[in-house]
Amino acid sequence: MITNNQRIALITGANKGIGKEIARQLAERGFAVFIGSRDMAKGREVSEELCQAGYEATCIQLDVTDPVSIRTACGTFSQKADHLDVLINNAGILEDHGETILKLNAEMLDRTLKANVNGPIMVIQDFLEHLQKSESGGRIINVSSGAGALTDMTTYAPAYSISKTALNAVTKQFAGALAEQNIAVNCVDPGWVRTDMGGPNASRSVEKGAETIVWLAADAPQSETGKFWHDKQEVDW
Ligand code: NAP
Repeated sequence: MITNNQRIALITGANKGIGKEIARQLAERGFAVFIGSRDMAKGREVSEELCQAGYEATCIQLDVTDPVSIRTACGTFSQKADHLDVLINNAGILEDHGETILKLNAEMLDRTLKANVNGPIMVIQDFLEHLQKSESGGRIINVSSGAGALTDMTTYAPAYSISKTALNAVTKQFAGALAEQNIAVNCVDPGWVRTDMGGPNASRSVEKGAETIVWLAADAPQSETGKFWHDKQEVDW
């Protein structure tokens, strides 16, 4: 049961990896968390785990590439909560397998952009009405990557890197468009994290990968908006 004054967060792709850890850390801080998952069974496992630990968690079916799924999730959300304080666009895919841009597969690029760029845009658009009802001021956090930083861009994973550069641009666009509505919009590079995507040799734990995202969601000044963050520091685009 969500209590009065409880802060509410929705995390996309929260059935595993960094998203699951963000949900756990926010629940631990007293947030009611909505576990966005395209596979309801996997999402339910996480929400049940959190509920058993005494936290407030609800699973919501949400495929960020499917406009109908997003709309339905928005309707389901409004039956359970009367506002949203934090939206975290965490769901993402990395399908590059070592090919350079010279051989980039157009269909793979299309899938990557749909999940990593179009998805967050559609989710923000549909959930905006709930964020606008946040009394503390809404917060949107887009989980980007160092691979999307133009300053350090190499030839690594072109489709993924291009999608994260575009997600950074999406962040700036929404930050500008929502500046007058007290809704902060930021993006985060979590570092190289040990998940299915990052692999077992990555240098960071999920706890560390989620840290700056959770800080932006719960503790950072509301006035911080339109920025790219890594380890709680603003970094170059
Ligand atoms: P992960 O373990 O592969 O988890 C990705 C999550 O996104 C899963 O829950 C996955 O759901 C979900 N997802 C994928 N496509 C989706 C869709 N269409 N709709 C809804 N959910 C979808 O990856 P991760 O490492 O935790 O990555 C989380 C975020 O961090 C991503 O945006 C990633 O780009 C970013 N990131 C990761 C690293 C790293 O080193 N791990 C570094 C920089 C940035 P399923 O289980 O159904 O596939």
